[in-house]
Amino acid sequence: MSFSLVHVALQTPSHSGVGDLLSYTSERPLSPGTLVRVPLGTREVLGVVWDADEAPGELPDGATLRPIAGVLDGVAPLDASWRRLVGFAARYYQRALGEVALAALPPQLRDLGPEQLARRLRRPAKGAGDDSRTIENIALSAEQESARARISSEKGPFLLFGSTGSGKTEVYLRCVQEMLEADPAAQALVMVPEINLTPQLEERFAGRFAPRFGPGAVASLHSGMTNPQRLASWLAAHSGSARIVLGTRMAVFASLPGLKLIVVDEEHDPSYKQQEGARYSARDLAIWRGREQGAKVILGSATPSLESWYASRPATAEDPEGGRYVRLHMPSRIGAGALARVRRVDMNQQPRRTVFSAPLLQAITERVARGEQSMILLNRRGYAPVLHCVDCGWKSDCPHCSAHQVFHKTDRTLRCHHCGHTVRVPFHCPACGSPDIHPMGKGTEQLEEQLGTLLREVLRPDRTPARIARIDADTTKAKGALEAQLAQVHSGEVDVLVGTQMIAKGHDFRRITLVAAVQPDGALFSSDFRAAERLFALLMQAAGRAGRDAAYMAAQAVHGTQPEMWVQSFHTQHAVFEALRKHDYEAFAAQQLKEREEAAMPPFSYQALVRADARTQEVAQGFLTAATAAAHATQLPGLPDGTVILFPPVPLTIQRVANVERAQMLMESSSRTTLQRFLAAWQPILQATRSQPEHKGLIRWLVDVDPLAI
Ligand code: ADP
Ligand code: ZN
Ligand code: ZN
Repeated sequence: MSFSLVHVALQTPSHSGVGDLLSYTSERPLSPGTLVRVPLGTREVLGVVWDADEAPGELPDGATLRPIAGVLDGVAPLDASWRRLVGFAARYYQRALGEVALAALPPQLRDLGPEQLARRLRRPAKGAGDDSRTIENIALSAEQESARARISSEKGPFLLFGSTGSGKTEVYLRCVQEMLEADPAAQALVMVPEINLTPQLEERFAGRFAPRFGPGAVASLHSGMTNPQRLASWLAAHSGSARIVLGTRMAVFASLPGLKLIVVDEEHDPSYKQQEGARYSARDLAIWRGREQGAKVILGSATPSLESWYASRPATAEDPEGGRYVRLHMPSRIGAGALARVRRVDMNQQPRRTVFSAPLLQAITERVARGEQSMILLNRRGYAPVLHCVDCGWKSDCPHCSAHQVFHKTDRTLRCHHCGHTVRVPFHCPACGSPDIHPMGKGTEQLEEQLGTLLREVLRPDRTPARIARIDADTTKAKGALEAQLAQVHSGEVDVLVGTQMIAKGHDFRRITLVAAVQPDGALFSSDFRAAERLFALLMQAAGRAGRDAAYMAAQAVHGTQPEMWVQSFHTQHAVFEALRKHDYEAFAAQQLKEREEAAMPPFSYQALVRADARTQEVAQGFLTAATAAAHATQLPGLPDGTVILFPPVPLTIQRVANVERAQMLMESSSRTTLQRFLAAWQPILQATRSQPEHKGLIRWLVDVDPLAI
């Protein structure tokens, strides 16, 4: 009897030290991409048959190989472009192939045997569409039409730079439609940053496309779904029955054999970067995948990442090539709605400890009285970030982290937002017994409470009292809570909405005419060089929530209503707020890029981080120092000529979390390729360093390529 040799990618325990692919025997040859179940130790696990040319050079003696346990025949093999995507992501982000491959598959595939899966696959399809149905389309604005036409005729990738409310989504819809109508096998992938933005978008896509392409044509893929739902969507995408996949970053790994178009909405959003395991950027992988699979890619944003902005720079005399992306500009709001007027309040002129300055409070009050809505942003949940004793100076520090425990008044707890450690609020100072303990600083709970007091006498047009609601991670823990709360805002039950950045993104609230950031200064002085960019994007996006409905704004104009964005700051002249006032992303980006270029920061250089976690800071830093010395001693690529620069290890800003000390070191290079070669060559040295006895206390180390937070 003869056996075929198969090489299988599977999730091996990270400490096992086994290579990327394991070899098994099979009674029949299996094509790459086939899903199989194989024995691993005493367990049986899911694996993907991989291409032989990526298999280890030296094969173990055939007699020692174990046979595969089964083949998931019902599922067609994953195609070569999916395998190339996974292979690239694993190499680029310095992770094991099997880890990336298995993480890209729906969790339930791992648990179902071939029979269970076959049963799942027999479920009836959701019904066909009706080809004769033409899709009712609204007329595009001139700017939208021009963007659509260029996307249709040029190769891209495209950066759709459109103001909030300029109708970017409508452009995506039209491009998707064109692609799907032209080719009955074509598929589109549309990615959005957050799960909470998908319900609205899902309705919009399903409403537009289900009648024509069938109720199963639109499938969602995000971590808020149940495992059976995720499996169903994944299978629909893989089989081609889903023509459109809407999802969060994980969807970039969906198997889409007919992929012809990828949209990355709000491409600047940090949530496209995975923060554990393989720390991939779904936006960057989308660009790679589009090129590799021949799909067009549209990145959309009102405040593009500086990377994408730079990559889409137009050609000039000094720079005749320009960037590699095509920049498309849509500056106008649909319906000629005005962008919010920006009002800055200088907090140096306000009484100490002011939370709501008098003019802001007045503006909110007037809006409540007119039946309009306001939105108040503060990026800190809880009542106060710390509790403090007036007598002895005690602070509510977390015993396990180098961070304060946050005071939550609603359930009278002190909670650490890093490790979750929770205690009841003490009545007396735990250090000196004094009853004089007070909250310091403000969180969203406190804003909600204070507004309640300040607006107590204010009436709505129907003579009922003003209604205040809060939306943040604490109020939305329960399943469906966020949807319910958003529905209340949409229906007009809420006059003033208080919340964290959760409420600033994407929502299409119709009656909001005022948005206020009450304490945005923290980000201005952060050690992270991207903090200003992120703050600017957040404020622009928040400003975009005001006055979205041109018809409503026209109706309110009799009261003199204008959309407004308020900023309370001690540094009102800061470049971020100056650019915000003028809604001038381009000026902001130009100023930031100039600084980045002078300092040789991304996008003018490439970075990676290695982080080490250990019981002590000495061990964490010692490991990084030793691995650095070994890298220099072996003259790894980029080091001798200084193309790759290694910086010394430093503690993380929050140095200790859950009793683990954390240190990191930065690597920088003007060449992405050299940095990649360096990292690949350094991996085995890091592994070897780890196993030296003096680094025994090391818990883990990890690499972050193109890190977003430094
Ligand atoms: P963006 O994604 O750029 O913020 P949207 O695509 O959500 O903007 O569009 C903003 C609003 O304008 C939506 O309510 C949308 O239905 C509407 N809209 C978009 N394009 C048009 C158009 N061509 N004609 C009329 N209304 C439009
Ligand atoms: Zn005390
Ligand atoms: Zn903690």
